[in-house]
Amino acid sequence: MTDLEGVAGVINFDDYGTPKGRYYETARELTTNEANAAIEGLIEAGAKEILVVDGHGHGAINPLLLHPSAKLLSGRPLKYPFGCDRSFDAAVIIGQHAKSNTDGGHLSHTFSFEVEELTINGISLGELGCNMLSAAYFGVPTVMVSGDKAACEEALALVPNIEVAPVKEGIKRGSAVGLTGEQNKLFNEAAIHLHPEKACELIRERARRGLERLSEIKPFWLDPPYELIIKLRPEKEGKTGRIAKVRSKDILELLRAPRKYKRIKEGFESNDTS
Ligand SMILES: [Zn+2]
Repeated sequence: MTDLEGVAGVINFDDYGTPKGRYYETARELTTNEANAAIEGLIEAGAKEILVVDGHGHGAINPLLLHPSAKLLSGRPLKYPFGCDRSFDAAVIIGQHAKSNTDGGHLSHTFSFEVEELTINGISLGELGCNMLSAAYFGVPTVMVSGDKAACEEALALVPNIEVAPVKEGIKRGSAVGLTGEQNKLFNEAAIHLHPEKACELIRERARRGLERLSEIKPFWLDPPYELIIKLRPEKEGKTGRIAKVRSKDILELLRAPRKYKRIKEGFESNDTS
């Protein structure tokens, strides 16, 4: 699984994260290089087949630059479980950013800069935890995560012996709690980045080690039934954001629900995810 905001050299969202951004192509190149570094490490550890998921909303993998040993899952719509099934042995997550409101996180958000908090069965999770749960549904452990330092710490809090590759560190301290989505997007763009080549060296090494340690690293899992609560940021400063709840016995069905921000804005509360 790949994302863009946690890649070394990706500095902000507006310039790097969307096709309208002046450095979007640079960001795609940086993201693809980090994915390639992980692929090289996985191959060193014996991987025979690799599927790369282009997980960033607008896409962040350049197929021309992608390692020829990997297949690419790209295009939209793209939903959980992102092509994963029981035939996979391990998952790795590249370019991960920390969840919404993380102290010291760089470009922290959970699916959207509009989301204040997401919990499943009372546990606060970001995209990282949701992706790990989705893979764990098929018994697949996530063995390695790269991204900003706070995202790596988020991974270690869920799976204490997971391999991590911190490639940058946000330097602003404090949480974005209570800010609007637009304010949150701009909250912490300042970070110290590894040089892209150094970031790739670290990712290659940690991905290799993660797969080598496959038998030791257990999947992050929560038992059903599930209740997901998603709280949106206030649309105006000083207001309260809307809250939605979704319940399901199936983690994949549950995880497919929080993308429906328009419905959340209308204030739905539902026992299903339709
Ligand atoms: Zn992204």
